[in-house]
Amino acid sequence: MTDVKKDIKADEAMNRAEEARKQLTFSFKNLWNPDNEEEMKAVMDFCEPYKAALDACKTEREFVDYSVDLLDENGFKPFDPSQPLSPGDRIYEAIHGKALIAAVIGSADPLEGFNLVGAHIDSPRLDLKTNPLYEASDLTLLKTHYYGGIKKYQWVAQPLAIHGVVILKNGDVVKLRVGEDPGDPVFTITDLLPHLAADQMQKKASEVITGEELNVLIGGIPFPGGEDIKERFKLGILSLLYDQYGFNERDLVTAEIEIVPAVKARCVGFDRAFVGAYGQDDRICAYTALKALIDLDDPLKRTALVVLYDKEETGSGGVTGARSQLFPSVQRRMVRSILGREPSAIELHDNIENSTMLSSDVAVAFDPTFPSVLDPLNSTYAGRGIAFAKYTGRGGKGGTSDANAEFFNEVTRLFDECGIPWQTGELGKVDQGGGGTVAIFQADLGMSVIDCGVPVLSMHSCFEIASKIDIYMTYIGYKAFFEKMRS
Ligand code: MN
Ligand code: MN
Repeated sequence: MTDVKKDIKADEAMNRAEEARKQLTFSFKNLWNPDNEEEMKAVMDFCEPYKAALDACKTEREFVDYSVDLLDENGFKPFDPSQPLSPGDRIYEAIHGKALIAAVIGSADPLEGFNLVGAHIDSPRLDLKTNPLYEASDLTLLKTHYYGGIKKYQWVAQPLAIHGVVILKNGDVVKLRVGEDPGDPVFTITDLLPHLAADQMQKKASEVITGEELNVLIGGIPFPGGEDIKERFKLGILSLLYDQYGFNERDLVTAEIEIVPAVKARCVGFDRAFVGAYGQDDRICAYTALKALIDLDDPLKRTALVVLYDKEETGSGGVTGARSQLFPSVQRRMVRSILGREPSAIELHDNIENSTMLSSDVAVAFDPTFPSVLDPLNSTYAGRGIAFAKYTGRGGKGGTSDANAEFFNEVTRLFDECGIPWQTGELGKVDQGGGGTVAIFQADLGMSVIDCGVPVLSMHSCFEIASKIDIYMTYIGYKAFFEKMRS
């Protein structure tokens, strides 16, 4: 064989391999395309109001208040179950001020099911204990009980803000939000100086700061009148709180007060590729879902629902958590109002069974600094779009809802058809740890559900990181799901 013929043969083989590779293999790509100026602008512009929303909403209650305002501005009305619902109607129902369902009514028979996107709006934080206030060594402090999965050492020597509600004797609600405005004081949990930390530094990271050491410094000026006054530092703060907000120590017992990082949402990186902020888990999915719902163009075929849950970080229990029957109850009342008559039990079940849901929660983005806990083949990556997780759970998938192959395929095919990029991955290496989401609770009712969401770095920290392109593409994806799923 001549050299020329040999070269042609080699070229042919290469081409065949290239063809086969194109046809047969599959991988997920980074989505940033700096040549597409229009898209770059859309991505950057989308994230500015998102950052503002994160600053405005550091608690589940604040996110509900914010959502209600946004929904009101965009033509949504509080759901009145005594009134009929028609295609195009936009409604919402807040649930105990800490969870929310919003819907755009479609033209399809409700028994054919709804399209739901569910996310949670609670985030890991420190809650005040019911009897929190004390003084020690001339300092006034608050006792806390942490909420959700935190690394306690991340919460010391940081500026902190106090958010929450205090219910007065007469039933009035005082909303507390201190540490966010530039003129506000902040609060903090003290840490030990390195000079005296020899023993502390030998401890395991989980014990470096213990739960009972998460005490928030809130004051140091005593009540006037001299040293003979009992607990004068505590009294100094109580009199200030009473003057400014009108509540006393008794009112604190029933209050819900959360300690959160005082940091603002910021662009991260010289190129501003990321949003860094507290509480992106899972307000990142709540915000994108809510925006997608609001931006839906009528007419819609299947009724679209955004369900925002509380208490995901503590296992979804309680009246505002995803296990609460309140959520399917609101959905049933919507079916009744759309039908204009009392539906039978089996009809209500038809609605649930035929409904489809994206259980939207953050995923873990591959972090090259900590590769040992992640399977690079089955991890999600910042910048590669919305991430689907067929299953979650721990160990042998304990606690997962594990979406059916048919449903996983149906959803991803829809995304493919709409040209919406997506990726998939699971939460770390097998047996490395794990976690769960709200998916299982709707799946238990008989709904088709799959997990998906935005990959984040530094999850559950005081400053979580998400790629802006993923935030934007998630919004686009939810919108397509509402408009096109089974429509
Ligand atoms: Mn979450
Ligand atoms: Mn979480």
